[in-house]
Amino acid sequence: MDYQVDEKGYYGEFGGAWIPEMMYSNIEELRKRYLEIIYSSKFQEEFTSLLKNYVGRPSPLYFAKRLSAHYGTDIYLKREDLNHTGSHKLNNTIGQILLAEKLGKTRIIAETGAGQHGVATATVCALKGIKCVVYMGALDVGRQAPNVKKMKMLGAEVVPVYSGNKTLKDATNEAMRDWINNPVDTHYIIGSVVGPHPYPDMVARFQAIISEEIKWQLDEQTGNELPTRILACVGGGSNAAGAFYHFLEDREVELIGVEAAGKGIDTNETAATLTVGSPGVLHASKTMLMQNADGQITEPYSISAGLDYPGIGPMHAHLFKTGRAKYLYATDKEVLTAALLITQKEGIIPALESAHALAALEKAEFAKDDVTVVNLSGRGDKDMETYLNYFGY
Ligand SMILES: *Cc1c(COP(=O)(O)O)cnc(C)c1O
Repeated sequence: MDYQVDEKGYYGEFGGAWIPEMMYSNIEELRKRYLEIIYSSKFQEEFTSLLKNYVGRPSPLYFAKRLSAHYGTDIYLKREDLNHTGSHKLNNTIGQILLAEKLGKTRIIAETGAGQHGVATATVCALKGIKCVVYMGALDVGRQAPNVKKMKMLGAEVVPVYSGNKTLKDATNEAMRDWINNPVDTHYIIGSVVGPHPYPDMVARFQAIISEEIKWQLDEQTGNELPTRILACVGGGSNAAGAFYHFLEDREVELIGVEAAGKGIDTNETAATLTVGSPGVLHASKTMLMQNADGQITEPYSISAGLDYPGIGPMHAHLFKTGRAKYLYATDKEVLTAALLITQKEGIIPALESAHALAALEKAEFAKDDVTVVNLSGRGDKDMETYLNYFGY
């Protein structure tokens, strides 16, 4: 079984580039050139240097002693929360801004829901002095004011989108429209392993640094580069793709993605795409998505804005379908409990997204010598208000 994308951009039956004809030239230019560019020695040199000196990589692999004692098994945390800007997202935006430069692009567009990807994009545009336009649903602009302010301070233009539900999907449509109208000078930075080929593969390759580091760090600390299992939360699926990437062919390593169940998978307020979804086309990719009987996308819900996405990357749809990875889910309530546990056992306040992966520890059955790696995708600063409201400090 091959878990990598094929030449046509498919992972099994999922993926592809379901784009309007008017976007063909944009996508074709990327598709033809992305591999040649990102594996050129000049690109690799600059990418590696920025990851080290700007992002702060390698991120530590930390043996969580008190959390391990609590669960009676060895737990290691991959500390993506310690990256500049507080999550794994910068690994991808650094890669894409370098790619955009090599393609001769002078303007960047992006869409954002919670604003995290918008901030990561505005950050690298500031770093490179490149013009940045971020599309954001008008409802999200209101809900995510601190991130909107950050983007503006970083020099980006934030464009509120008033069509549809005024959320992420509408912002995505607007970004695609912009790209069609500006095919020559503009690069569109997508923030997860979603969208038309080659984005899912390209973003997975940029995030693959996570599993590349886990391998040598685990070997250094335990004498074995292979853990028993790896847990990661899944929204679009980029931090999970990065944490799984170099273990895909190591069949003995259990790969576990954790989706956001929201208020429960039996309610309408959920974002557990693989659990409640069905195949369809979203964001120009064939994948699993949440839709009603008429094929209309249903609005997702999760306490964590970063997992609040009605689809999932095609790679995960394929790993799910083939059984190579397992997908669990955690409810808002379970997530808050897990967040408090790690905070008080390890002194690490996690992002709500990352706490989904931690919540799944409650559901795992551990054997004595198991080694479990949890990808801690981000830090909890942005979620303090939610935590404080819930815990009432
Ligand atoms: C955006 C985000 C996620 C979800 O995105 P993926 O593409 O699924 O990784 C998870 N954790 C954090 C901290 C995020 O900011």
